[in-house]
Amino acid sequence: MDAEFFRRWLTATTRAVEEEADRLTELDAAIGDADHGANMRRGFRAVSEALAAQEPDVVLTPGAVLMLAGRTLISKVGGASGPLYGTLLRRTGKALGDAPEVSDAELRAALDEGVRAVGTLGKSEAGDKTMLDALIPGVRALAESYPAARDAAARGAEATIPMRARRGRASYLGERSIGHQDPGATSSALLFATLAEVAG
Ligand code: ADP
Ligand code: MG
Ligand code: MG
Repeated sequence: MDAEFFRRWLTATTRAVEEEADRLTELDAAIGDADHGANMRRGFRAVSEALAAQEPDVVLTPGAVLMLAGRTLISKVGGASGPLYGTLLRRTGKALGDAPEVSDAELRAALDEGVRAVGTLGKSEAGDKTMLDALIPGVRALAESYPAARDAAARGAEATIPMRARRGRASYLGERSIGHQDPGATSSALLFATLAEVAG
């Protein structure tokens, strides 16, 4: 996979986030502050703009594309999800190094590092009812295939419904966070859906 692949992934994610923004905001209205769709839309629009603004004769590496996207999310999104998704992409990009092409196994290892960095920044782990509950099973299933990762991340997002939130705004609700799907886990599942789409 080359830099163009990663641009396609991010562009597809921008589109998916636009399509799902209302649903993400509805989910966040139930257990947060009703801005997750808007945060994600603002962030990924800025990512697509930043990629489009690159000089056409400057050839970025896959790692540089993801680091640019991560920096953009951190600077454009005020909510918790900006620094968390920004860290995910920046750390993943950093782990890819400056290779012009990366293998499936290299991407999986890099995403694994990125997901760990999210847990470190958020002081969160599997079962806390956060984006990690989609990211962790998604990355694990990448060992099998991209469609398997898409399905595992979607199941992971659904599995947050009976969980009680232990991190983020939803944790302020305590017991009342039970019975609602986590918005960040839902947007994380989109990342794997678009990855499977561009890889397929
Ligand atoms: P905010 O909560 O600041 O309004 P968003 O609504 O954009 O930000 O994002 C909320 C999502 O961020 C949650 O649904 C959850 O998945 C994720 N999140 C929040 N805090 C953490 C954390 N400490 N670790 C991992 N993910 C988190
Ligand atoms: Mg919110
Ligand atoms: Mg907010």
